[in-house]
Amino acid sequence: MDIPRIFNITESAHRIHNPMTPEKLATLGAALRLEAGARVLDLGSGSGEMLCTWARDHGIIGVGIDMSQTFNEQAKRRAEELGVADQVTFIHGDAAGHVSDEKVSVAACIGATWIGAGVAGTLELLARSLGPGGIILIGEPYWRQLPPTEEVAKRCLADSVSDFLMLPELLASFDHLGYDVVEMVLADQDSWDRYEAAKWLTMRRWLDANPDDELAKEVRAQLSSEPVRHAAYTREYLGWGVFALMSRR
Ligand code: SAH
Repeated sequence: MDIPRIFNITESAHRIHNPMTPEKLATLGAALRLEAGARVLDLGSGSGEMLCTWARDHGIIGVGIDMSQTFNEQAKRRAEELGVADQVTFIHGDAAGHVSDEKVSVAACIGATWIGAGVAGTLELLARSLGPGGIILIGEPYWRQLPPTEEVAKRCLADSVSDFLMLPELLASFDHLGYDVVEMVLADQDSWDRYEAAKWLTMRRWLDANPDDELAKEVRAQLSSEPVRHAAYTREYLGWGVFALMSRR
């Protein structure tokens, strides 16, 4: 079981697989006023940077689940490196339907809401692991500018303009689902570059080392087109943020 190999190649050097910088992750951790010993569940935990740094900085206890074997191994190595291996557990597997045995203070899905078939389904899934007064974290794109055409949306790697909302509408949608938005930390154009542009050097080095790989043609094509596509589309049109939510029910 794994994610498509192309992601394991292009994001192999990423610690954060989203347009969040280490600084923004730290800002989010501080904003949530995490207490030592608080339990945090992370569905689609990637290379574990959020759980590992929050374990180090705030003393949280974390469990992360991710379908990428590569990212999951990186997460375990990162935990060792930061001296928090006794506080965080990383499980390789499908997070769809995953509910934790013990209730958590924070239940997160950062940039992987397809795990619950969309934002609403992911909120329902995360809520099942959450203790009273707990906080749900959702990382999700929104339109920074509304794409003028469906073609522009596709160039942002969305299927359609209707895939995402503008920021005020996204916040309102959380309200309609019965949640108070209690914090947010947003990406910006520079942090998008950290996510997107960091793939380019990884791709170039991988191509130099693996010229005969079956994915070499695809990676070459991406390396040739991605800088311009990113600058013209993702960087201009797509926003992204992590939203902290508390149920009103
Ligand atoms: N939250 C992490 C990773 C976001 S990228 C971060 O911010 O760095 C999306 C992640 O979801 C990838 O690590 C991918 O491997 C993982 N993923 C995709 N489908 C999944 C599934 N069904 N179950 C668990 N993880 C999944």
